[in-house]
Formats: sequence, structure tokens, C-alpha cells
Amino acid sequence: MSRTASCTIDLAAEGKSSGYIQIGDSTNTSGWANHCVPIISIKNGAGPRLLLLAGNHGDEYEGQIVATELSRRLQASEIRGQVIIIPCLSQEASQNGNRLWNNGANFNRIFPGNEDGTINEKLAFFLSNNLFPTCDVIVDMHSGGRSMAFIPSSNMVWVSDLALRKVMLANMLAWNTEYHMIGGEQPSTNPYSLLPGDVVRQGKSLSTGEFGGCGWTTAETVKIIRDGLHDFMRALGILNGEYKTRTERGLPEAKILDFREGDAYVTAPCDGIYENCVDLEDEVKAGDLVGQLHDFNHPDRKPIPVYAGRAGVISVVRGYPPVKTGDVVCTIGILRKNIAEFEAAGN
Ligand SMILES: [Zn+2]
Repeated sequence: MSRTASCTIDLAAEGKSSGYIQIGDSTNTSGWANHCVPIISIKNGAGPRLLLLAGNHGDEYEGQIVATELSRRLQASEIRGQVIIIPCLSQEASQNGNRLWNNGANFNRIFPGNEDGTINEKLAFFLSNNLFPTCDVIVDMHSGGRSMAFIPSSNMVWVSDLALRKVMLANMLAWNTEYHMIGGEQPSTNPYSLLPGDVVRQGKSLSTGEFGGCGWTTAETVKIIRDGLHDFMRALGILNGEYKTRTERGLPEAKILDFREGDAYVTAPCDGIYENCVDLEDEVKAGDLVGQLHDFNHPDRKPIPVYAGRAGVISVVRGYPPVKTGDVVCTIGILRKNIAEFEAAGN
């Protein structure tokens, strides 16, 4: 248990309460300071305990908006069990419009944290040691941030643990979004250093999603994440109201975008200013032009073309145009009509 962070509210108490995760700090202007992260608890008797997280990355605002809205509106009488909400994990990054904390930390690469480390490391340690072990389900809501835009969807990593995969699959589908994305683990990255990876390491039920991006929000993306979250909470039996699947609503099955192969990711061959030549949901063939890189210091030079490495559906496009060599500029998912087709194509 953390000795350098604590919660100002009693998470075992019934009803609704709000307070802070308080992390000890000492700064130039305040020798005895506390870094305060808002936390809200809504509890109504026995039932599952859901931890709802947003703002893991600061410039991903869709989840922060919906988590904040839910923390204001949700009443204990509307639920069974408990919902604990942290609407914004990376507050300074959110306020600055940045993905990362001011000290350069990517909050999603520092787990399981360090109780004697930086503020962000202390917060990660508190989550990993004080909160995750006490919760049944953890939701971590993302989007593309400033640099990318995703087709808004709940998604998952195709983990090798079959029991956990089954739970994560059910969680992903429960959001009822039109698309879902399923990928492998990120290359050259310790999977357990990510918040969702730490949740999985602890054998807890996890759900994540990428609900838009580009560092802004739209009416459509906020509606998708809001409706999806309500459906997810109903499917868990936490939120009052009948849960209906897409099929029960007369909607087509959700489309699955398969990202398990490395050629799903298209990278910049050189530095430049990137122009998207395709949009989200466009279908491309291998060799199609997906973008081009400009050099505005030399307008006489032709832009450098960027081509699709495989056929599929454009699932992520670039948001922030200045790119460095090797930056991902778009991704191409292979469309599977449903989970059965996805599994049949498996490896
Ligand atoms: Zn993120």
C-alpha cells in the first residue's frame, strides 16, 4: 500500500461522495504541498465495483468530458454496486493540451509506478496497489489525442490468456459501437508498463477504447463514448435499465478491424508536413496513396508519397501534421465481419 498517496474519502461508504487522491509533494513555492486528483465514489449496496478512468493522456478529452458528466449526474439510486470515477488522471497535461506530463512522463508507460518517485509515478503506484486490487472492472478511456484520430470504438489487445481474452472480448462488445479494433501488443514496449497492462497483470477485468482524437471533441464522438459507457455499465448489471445488444436493436453486427499484423501501421519515410490523402473508413488497396510529405522550405520539390502496405480500411489518420521519420501516419485494419470471422483468420 502506498505511503505517499492517500484518498480523502472513504471508498467503503454508501452513497455519493467526492474528494481527492492526495499525493505528497514539495515544491519551490510550497514546502509541504499536496497534488490533488479528484475522485468520486457512488455506491449502492452489494455488486460489482467499477473503476472508471479518463485523462490517462492529457489531450484525449472525450473520456474526460463523459467521466466528469457522469460524476455530476449519476446517483446511487441508479446503480447496484459501486462506480469510482477519476475523470482526469493527468491534469496538468490536460490543461496544457498535451499527451505527456510537464516532466515528459507518459502516464501510460510508468506502471506499476514508484511510491518514492515523481508525482506521476506516485499516482500510478497508488492506482496499482490501492485501487486496482479492490476493483472488479477497470475502464480506461482513450482517443487519438492531438496526433491521431481513430474511428471511435471500444477495442482490445488479443491477449494470450484465453480466460482473460474471453472477458475482454465480452467487455469490448458490450459498448455496442459500430466498429471495434483488435490489435497485438505494441512492439518494443513492456506491455505491463501500460495502465491496461498492469490491470491485466493483476488478472482484473479490463475495458478500453479509442473514441476519436485530434485533440478536439465532436458531438458525434462524445455521443458514441457516452452511449457506449452507459451500455457497458448496463451490461455489467451496475446501471439500472435493460441492456440490449446491437442485434436486439436491429442493428448490424459490429465490424471488427484486425490490427494483429505489423503492416497495419504506415510510417513516415522522412521528416515533413504530412497531408492525409485518405479519410477514416476509406477502403484502400496495397500500393494506394494514403498521404504525402511536404517540405515548405523547398516548394519546388515534389511531395514525398506515402503508400498503403496492404489492403484494408483506414482506421486511424494523422492529426498533427509535422512528422518525424518513423512516426505512424495512418493505420489500415483488415475488416472482419464479426468475431467468428476474426477468430477464423487468427494466428
Ligand atoms: Zn491515450
